[in-house]
Amino acid sequence: MSNLDAIYRARKNVQGLVTRTPLLPAPGLSGDRHEVRLKLETLQPTGAFKLRGAVNAVSRLSREQLERGVVCVSTGNHGRALAYAANRMGGKATICVSRLVPQNKIDAIAALGAEVVVTGESQDEAQQQVEYLVREQGMSEIPPFDHADVIAGQGTMGLEILEDWPEVDTVLAGLSGGGLISGVAIAMKTINPAIRVIGLSPERGAAMAASLDAGKPVEVEELETLADSLGGGIGLENKFTFQHVRGLVDEVLLLSEKQIARGMQSLFTKARQVAEGSGAVGVALLTDPALQGQLSRPLGKRVAVVVSGNNVDMDDFQRVIDGSHPALKGEDS
Ligand SMILES: *Cc1c(COP(=O)(O)O)cnc(C)c1O
Repeated sequence: MSNLDAIYRARKNVQGLVTRTPLLPAPGLSGDRHEVRLKLETLQPTGAFKLRGAVNAVSRLSREQLERGVVCVSTGNHGRALAYAANRMGGKATICVSRLVPQNKIDAIAALGAEVVVTGESQDEAQQQVEYLVREQGMSEIPPFDHADVIAGQGTMGLEILEDWPEVDTVLAGLSGGGLISGVAIAMKTINPAIRVIGLSPERGAAMAASLDAGKPVEVEELETLADSLGGGIGLENKFTFQHVRGLVDEVLLLSEKQIARGMQSLFTKARQVAEGSGAVGVALLTDPALQGQLSRPLGKRVAVVVSGNNVDMDDFQRVIDGSHPALKGEDS
């Protein structure tokens, strides 16, 4: 299991390859009720926080393992991160993706020097290819979230938030497989257990929320969502993140497509930041009173929002901003 010591060790391992991102005050998103600061993981060289976990995990491999190569399934950002990490650390990477993954993300991974294998209709199907490569070619699997070194790497973000803002009382973060929020919650709550951690998932395919309700990991149907980096299951054999999330995350809220799109709009118009849908879910909560009404108690006074990534197709982003994106049509939810 990951713990604070592992996260401090990860901090040393990621230095040099991972950007220590700023925690940007966002007066346009703050008000009388709370002060808001944005953890800009969009400034990582691969455009998302996943580089933290990937670099930490790769840094712990032997030279021989690095040469045989690393492999993973990825909705995009983890694949990019692993490709970049392996390349920078002198290894090779093979990335398996499902057919649901958008072309812009696939091209970006290939451009980083990795081999991309497109296979299957879901992450779980692409996973079978990974298992084959591990078995037949001796590659090392670095999964996107359910791995102690990956979780510890993501936790380095939590240390940075606390260093920059020791008075922070609430953290908002996207939640999919749960590596991000597990690492952040372990780092921050071990140091200050009073910090409230809120996870946000799209209602279209919220596997972790369904698993928490069921009391064990369950599968949900994979659906396309504007928050595409939050898609995919948590794995029926989940080893770490389900338990971390169950033990440490205070609340999980589900967002409609329209709420996600509005989060992207607010982040752009009120803080001039570009993010993908998954990176804007925290801002969606901040700017949507109906969503906030679903919380068990009001948001805190000092709210850190993880802006987790910016790998969005620019045509889609344009249409979200000008209001013509399909996610913005139809009934308010
Ligand atoms: C992967 C990802 C998330 C969610 O992280 P998990 O560890 O799977 O919960 C959020 N935002 C972006 C941009 C991501 O790439």
